[in-house]
Amino acid sequence: MAGRSAGGIRSAVLARTSRCLDWCGLALACAGVLCLVAAGVAPATPAAAAASSAPATATAPRSSPARPRVLMLGIDAADVEVVTPLLEAGLLPNLKRLVDAGTMQVLHSHPPTRSPAVWTTIATGVRKETHGIYDYVTNTYYWPEELRTKEKLLTTVDMRKVPAIWNIVGDRGLTSVVVGWLSTWPAEEIKGALVAPYIHIGNTRQTTIKGSIYKTDAPEQTHDPKLFARLKPLLRDPDAYGLEERKRYYDELPAESSVYEKIPILKRYNYTASWSAARMYNVTAATLALSRELDPDLVMVYYQCPDSFGHRFWHFRLPEPELRQRLELLGVDPDLAPELKQRYGHAIDNCYQDIDTTTGELLQALGPGFSVMVMSDHGFGACQFERVNKNVPFDGGHRTEGLVILSGPAFKRGAELRQPVVEDLAPTALSVLGVPRPEFMEGRILEEALAGRPKGHRATSR
Ligand SMILES: [Zn+2]
Repeated sequence: MAGRSAGGIRSAVLARTSRCLDWCGLALACAGVLCLVAAGVAPATPAAAAASSAPATATAPRSSPARPRVLMLGIDAADVEVVTPLLEAGLLPNLKRLVDAGTMQVLHSHPPTRSPAVWTTIATGVRKETHGIYDYVTNTYYWPEELRTKEKLLTTVDMRKVPAIWNIVGDRGLTSVVVGWLSTWPAEEIKGALVAPYIHIGNTRQTTIKGSIYKTDAPEQTHDPKLFARLKPLLRDPDAYGLEERKRYYDELPAESSVYEKIPILKRYNYTASWSAARMYNVTAATLALSRELDPDLVMVYYQCPDSFGHRFWHFRLPEPELRQRLELLGVDPDLAPELKQRYGHAIDNCYQDIDTTTGELLQALGPGFSVMVMSDHGFGACQFERVNKNVPFDGGHRTEGLVILSGPAFKRGAELRQPVVEDLAPTALSVLGVPRPEFMEGRILEEALAGRPKGHRATSR
């Protein structure tokens, strides 16, 4: 038997190529914090569940055909090169409808593509040096030295130096529903509702965040604070997601399989999948319930499974010879490649399909009046590491090229965007909502995408 025991797996030191910008998942740089914060995948039923148990009675709709409204749908690590073949194969029908009616293009991000920094840029229209959020915790090398702390502390929302768009639109009397957006804890007071991901710091990698977001009684996860008790019955416990629920991602090895002895990390990935599924369900259920209740002008929601799954399952998606090579590097029998590829090769695609299903549920619940902006903080692709990180032995890597889809009443069909960057999204969303672009914003309004004249300040040209 050529396969070796787990002890034969090479220990992990990472060496990056220029293409491998960041380890969202399990980096040494994370200093023990899992960046999985917000992995997400959706069961097919939160719409029905939320419909039957909305936390409060709905207000009378203020909807009118002319009222501009925006859905910002964040998908961590969504990549044009992964999405395009799935669209073409008809596997993402809801996203395809959006793309066909609007435009999809590469969205440029900034290295290092650290998710909290970039998602805060998307929400504020300024780069990290201006908004001041660099990472999940405060002691990592992602922070400028003068800002780095000795102690590992959670980054908090009061460290953000500029308002986010939910603050800005709230000042104009508009209502927002913001669920799961990174770096929003503790939940700040906004006009509308905000549900903030809470990150548990663990002592070892992979134990840090767990599925406890929203489900625990950690403080200040919602604004209004009383909302938490009302939302909690809608939320599902990741521990309740077992083998059956994970089947929608992959055909996992039987519990008694000897492959787990050779690649023990695969067992832990089952936890990732359960947790991702539960989180996506919870984010969707909360968004649907709050949107029904508040009839918001701006909805912002965040899903994460292309990132967490990308870090774990990338090599299973590649052609078999590449998976064989990877197994050899790990000191594992390469003849396991066909079986592993068959079992885990579709995990990433299936996570995108879950997001697509959820997108359909959201669009149906929100109605046709919403202009939709789908975006990622970075892309995800092939990545050559000289050595294998044993915590994520089948990892790919971040790319600075993410994805943006603009679709719906405010946006032109087939518009060609001129080098859109992540800080352009906030001023563009404001423009759609009829709110002037604040002077402090560094991004420009993506005028070339707008069906009508941009509202507010003239965009800066680049
Ligand atoms: Zn990310």
